[in-house]
Amino acid sequence: MAEERTLILLKPDALQRGITGKIISRIEERGLQIVGLRMIELDDVKCKEHYSHLVGKPFYPKLVEFMTSAPVIALVAQGAEAVKVVREMCGPTNARNAPAGTIRGDYSLSTQYNVIHASDSLETAKKEVARFFADVQIFAWNRELSKFTAAEDEK
Ligand code: UDP
Ligand code: MG
Repeated sequence: MAEERTLILLKPDALQRGITGKIISRIEERGLQIVGLRMIELDDVKCKEHYSHLVGKPFYPKLVEFMTSAPVIALVAQGAEAVKVVREMCGPTNARNAPAGTIRGDYSLSTQYNVIHASDSLETAKKEVARFFADVQIFAWNRELSKFTAAEDEK
């Protein structure tokens, strides 16, 4: 096991609905440490880069329209096995299949408007963090609480 960093985007629907604070609280309360946070407006080029695996899908134009319709809040969250932990907190892509207690399961009924993006593997996370954050925008701050979020040999 290891401390990992993962990239989270709170999508335009989360901003429109005024639930970004609630979602950030869940991330903090789980014990994850926020080491980067910024508001960003995506454009077509950034969407194409970020969703390159979906270019050509029938829903892709609508996805771009949605993701560029308002800013997103980007976060880098750090913690033991953060990539897997945050993916599981999000729940499946189609929020109607997402269990209650997950972010998508509690806040969405949609596949497209599913509130949150999270990196799906450690390799993807490294690329996605670098896509949205310069090194100087990530802070390796010492959080006293970290002593209790996972034991030393779990980090
Ligand atoms: N999406 C969509 N329709 C689909 C599949 C995906 O609108 O049929 C959107 C949705 O917002 C999703 C994003 O495209 O979160 C990225 O899709 P991916 O398969 O990577 O799902 P995720 O990793 O976000 O769960
Ligand atoms: Mg994905």
